[in-house]
Amino acid sequence: NAKASGRNCHQFFNQKIQLEAERIAQLHFHLKKAISQNELELFYQPIVNPLTGDIVKAEALLRWCHKGQYISPAEFIPIAEQSGLIVEVGEWVKTQAVITAMDLKKRGLHIPIAVNVSTLEFWSLELQTRFLQFFDNVVEKLNIDAFPYEMITLEITESLMMKQQKEVCELLSLLRQRGIKISIDDFGTGYSSLSYLVSFPVDQIKIDKSFIHQLETDPRHKALVEAIVSMSRALDLTVIAEGVETQRQLDFVNQQQIQAVQGYFYYKPMSKQDFFKLM
Ligand code: C2E
Ligand code: MG
Ligand code: MG
Ligand code: MG
Repeated sequence: NAKASGRNCHQFFNQKIQLEAERIAQLHFHLKKAISQNELELFYQPIVNPLTGDIVKAEALLRWCHKGQYISPAEFIPIAEQSGLIVEVGEWVKTQAVITAMDLKKRGLHIPIAVNVSTLEFWSLELQTRFLQFFDNVVEKLNIDAFPYEMITLEITESLMMKQQKEVCELLSLLRQRGIKISIDDFGTGYSSLSYLVSFPVDQIKIDKSFIHQLETDPRHKALVEAIVSMSRALDLTVIAEGVETQRQLDFVNQQQIQAVQGYFYYKPMSKQDFFKLM
């Protein structure tokens, strides 16, 4: 009997894997056409100075509307990464972010746009060169005078620091010399050593929302956030608290004198149109 149920369980598991694999294959198939079929859209989530309520930055977050349904980036970004499509997707995202940054600039609004960058976009030397060339190409493509480097922040993750350290470091330094800011996303959730904070050109860290969400349930997370903040201060890095949803979380963030806050407490990600209305 145990054997039979074991077999059933096995079958069930195989079926699940099969369905999952089919879904991934399907999504991959459709994702290839998503750009040309205008199914991708960038949403913007304002980042706020908690002392003044001013919007100081906005994060661009990718949305894929497929057959009338939104598919989460948490689902389709990994698929884009597996297939290498992420490079094209990333260039589309950066192009849109630049267009938005230029639109803001035209209106006299100095709100930098933060763009998520996948580690896979830096995978090879070839891709690294392509990444750098993108900024020169986009100037021609969009027929603008100059790339608004100071209006763009790149959000990278700790996993990037583990890859081709020297080359990636040089690339980021070059971009930073041009005026781009580098932010470490989901800080504290990666597995890399802290020493990269000194050896890599970094301007800012974003404390992962999992720390913020656990502040109330587990006081030890307060100690972690405090430690991250004091370390950032010593290293002259600015800090963004991600995922702030409640007044109590905001109170704690203010106690810690964290300069910038992103979360549903203030704003959810919104369409470009809504973002411009808000501004
Ligand atoms: P992320 O870069 O850490 O982005 C923040 C995520 O937290 C977003 O989820 C945002 O909607 C969500 N968030 C913001 N405030 C709150 C809050 O108060 N509570 C909660 N529960 N969540 C909050 P989203 O938009 O689903 O994106 C998920 C992830 O997908 C992003 O995490 C990022 O890693 C990735 N992603 C999104 N857009 C892009 C993109 O253009 N390129 C790449 N490579 N990755 C992207
Ligand atoms: Mg991000
Ligand atoms: Mg994050
Ligand atoms: Mg994330």
